[in-house]
Amino acid sequence: MRWALVGASTIASQHMIRAIRAQAGGEVARVVSGSRDRAETYAREHGIPAFGTDLNEALADPVIDAVYISTTNEKHLLQALAAIAAGKHVLCEKPLAMTVPDAVAMVRAADEAGVTFATNHHLRCSGSHRAVRALIREGRLGKVLSVRVFHAVHLPENLQGWRINSAAEGGGVIPDITVHDADVVRFLLDEDPVSVVAQATSSGMGLGVEDSAMSVWAMPSGTMVMSHESFTHPFAGSGLEVHGTQGSIFARGVMTQKPVGEIELVDAAGRHAIPFAAHDLYITGVAEFEAAVRGEGQPAATGIDGVKSLAVAAAVREAAETGARVTINYGG
Ligand code: NDP
Repeated sequence: MRWALVGASTIASQHMIRAIRAQAGGEVARVVSGSRDRAETYAREHGIPAFGTDLNEALADPVIDAVYISTTNEKHLLQALAAIAAGKHVLCEKPLAMTVPDAVAMVRAADEAGVTFATNHHLRCSGSHRAVRALIREGRLGKVLSVRVFHAVHLPENLQGWRINSAAEGGGVIPDITVHDADVVRFLLDEDPVSVVAQATSSGMGLGVEDSAMSVWAMPSGTMVMSHESFTHPFAGSGLEVHGTQGSIFARGVMTQKPVGEIELVDAAGRHAIPFAAHDLYITGVAEFEAAVRGEGQPAATGIDGVKSLAVAAAVREAAETGARVTINYGG
């Protein structure tokens, strides 16, 4: 497929250009940036043949099959709606939008236009998360009682821009990382959180937005979830634990962009190292998106998955701001 990048972003340069080019016939044909100079430099650095600042011109290009949107979060809505209106398939970064109703509007527009619309939640593409999900579904844990998600990292210096100081562009750890954790928990447990309580703070990086959050979620099955996200923890490591009546899973170092980490299952028979596939998360995500465009299955994370992860994150922020338990509104 031939792709246009909307956003001359870090995530595209670090992962997505490679992921698109790894597909059979995968081409990055254009890049659109808010700045002509930046578009030109980015296109040259990455060997992209066409560049510019005019989204509509890019969308009018008949060779483009799909659009990958990785601008700052407040831009996703209008760019996605324009791409959908032009009949392009869209893979959009998380959070899909600034509000749940906006994300719902994106999904509806794509449904009406008959194009594929997906969310780039990479973690559910990883061999580690898929292995944890399989253990739960096989019943190896018995009844799942609780999940703990550890996703407190240190935001690299090159990303300490809008994420830590611009609410208007969608900054803050909740729209950045809590959305991923919401998607992971939904993926692992196959159910949607009902309500949340939360606290958030700025612990040294956030200016006008939170850089750390802790929350507790209630699931329909009664499973309890606790989730911790931060930009300010250099040595905390990441991971998740799933505890059931028959066993516990300890997955260490798995909340990451790389196919790394280790998984251990502990049950009455002892401790078992769990092997998992070490494929590239982003290549897998693009492959499943392209397959969905061809009519073969669903993207790894659909538009609805993006709406739901955003709804959980929005509830966590509201709960942290108000001190109240918030029932999650998935937007109908
Ligand atoms: P960046 O800050 O790198 O890029 C966002 C925008 O900022 C770009 O579109 C670009 O604007 C501008 N920009 C980037 N670098 C520079 C620079 N050096 N000088 C001037 N402007 C610059 O953000 P990320 O790539 O980290 O994130 C982009 C989106 O992707 C967000 O929605 C984020 O949530 C998501 N994301 C998802 C990840 C995942 O694994 N799924 C991981 C990381 C991010 P312009 O296009 O106008 O040139």
